[in-house]
Amino acid sequence: MKKAVVCGAGGFIASHLVKRLKKEGYWVRGVDRKLPEYAPTAADDFMVVDLCEEANCIAALDIDGAAPDEVYQLAADMGGMGFIHSAECEIMRNSALVNIHMIDAAAKAGVPRYFFSSSVCIYRDMEPGEDEMTEDEAYPALPDNEYGWEKLYAERMAMAYGRRFGTTIRIARFQNCYGPEGTWDGGREKAPAAICRKVAMCEDGGTIEVWGDGKAIRSYTYVDDMVDGIYRLMHSEMEGPANIGCPEYVSVDELVMATAEAAGKTIHIKHIDGPVGVQSRNFSNERIYSVGWKSEWPLKRGIAETYKWIEAQVQARDAGKTQEPATAG
Ligand code: NAD
Repeated sequence: MKKAVVCGAGGFIASHLVKRLKKEGYWVRGVDRKLPEYAPTAADDFMVVDLCEEANCIAALDIDGAAPDEVYQLAADMGGMGFIHSAECEIMRNSALVNIHMIDAAAKAGVPRYFFSSSVCIYRDMEPGEDEMTEDEAYPALPDNEYGWEKLYAERMAMAYGRRFGTTIRIARFQNCYGPEGTWDGGREKAPAAICRKVAMCEDGGTIEVWGDGKAIRSYTYVDDMVDGIYRLMHSEMEGPANIGCPEYVSVDELVMATAEAAGKTIHIKHIDGPVGVQSRNFSNERIYSVGWKSEWPLKRGIAETYKWIEAQVQARDAGKTQEPATAG
């Protein structure tokens, strides 16, 4: 039985990844500074530790005296645009420490395969309608925010360790990811979850506030698609970073309209000042297509699933119900 350590398994994408690895027959250890908030973990073993500490990274990779076959590094100080712009120091410090210690511990423990979750935030801003950008066009580098610079550094560090220690390194640059069991309130939520929450809390015919002019172009990737991309990339021969993203590009206003449709409501938009990030995104997915991946979740279908889950969370909160604490299991 293959053994995997999944870092960040108390978070959104990695908790879904743990479920996928269990389906594929793995023994899985989850590691995070917290348990998943919305559902019990599917991991066989779960360590609640701070991965900024080197000793915790070393301990996380010790499974009865042996190293795991695979490490998936998805732990990061992470949030939507509001968080990314207000927590620059935390992002630059904490995520870098996790990445430094984890790749160092994994390479020295002799872990054969290591996955790192990077982001399309490593790319420069684009004009709407500009030609697709490929992975190589990340350079000369000009990320729009510190989160992107930290990811770029961590990518390079992982590749340097791969060259020195012979560890197989796989790197995905994720587009915006959304789906059930992701953060939906509290300040770290990303745009699709925030919009689902606002629409769920808005009466039919009402108005929601949206940061910016609503014209910024993005693609949103459903979490099942993302996890499938991670799994395929990890087991491929693909050297170097690969973008993973749904090829459906929409404006923020179109995202609101898709959410309103899923809710069966008429929603009006009031644009207000707020952190928006880059103007436009348009990336080539040719590399990830070459490992057999394709997006199975158009925005309409993914948003319908996500909206249903977030609406239920909002209703449970409003009814004063508290969530059952998630337990390792
Ligand atoms: P998330 O915030 O839900 O999960 C990250 C997890 O890392 C959290 O559970 C957090 O507690 C954990 N963590 C942070 N610092 C830690 C520490 N010091 N020690 C132990 N655990 C720690 O985020 P997510 O959306 O699931 O993102 C997963 C990965 O994918 C991150 O690396 C993120 O940067 C990357 N990514 C996500 C998106 C997206 O749209 N969600 C887009 C691009 C890249």
